[in-house]
Amino acid sequence: MVEECTCEASEVLLFPCSGGSNCGQIANQVAVQLTEGNVGKMYCLAGIGAHESVMLDTTRAARRVVAIDGCTVACARKTIEHAGLTVTDWICVTDEGISKTHEFKLALEEIGLIIRRTRESLAKPLGVSG
Ligand code: SF4
Repeated sequence: MVEECTCEASEVLLFPCSGGSNCGQIANQVAVQLTEGNVGKMYCLAGIGAHESVMLDTTRAARRVVAIDGCTVACARKTIEHAGLTVTDWICVTDEGISKTHEFKLALEEIGLIIRRTRESLAKPLGVSG
């Protein structure tokens, strides 16, 4: 059984890469659905890339900063780190066995798998990986 994260949703910021591939869009859908489920709050990766000060401050204050990347290029994680912020949780869609394509017919079971992986990561205390 997966333990639930004890952080408030507003303390958990979700940054999908939202890339131009099935995997990038799976990441996006995962962030949307976890936000709708009140697990966290989808936040603006582009705003971090633009170094918008309010968004940087909000992200710095979050307890969990979750990068959900479509593939190992890890654009979301790198964007956050380049802004001098710390990623506490990193999820990579292709690492879960989903192949990257440039089709946008997203499989519900693949979205569900990445949602479960993100929840599992959030259920772990900070600093515990694997
Ligand atoms: S992490 Fe991969 S899928 Fe996401 S934007 Fe970067 S290259 Fe595209």
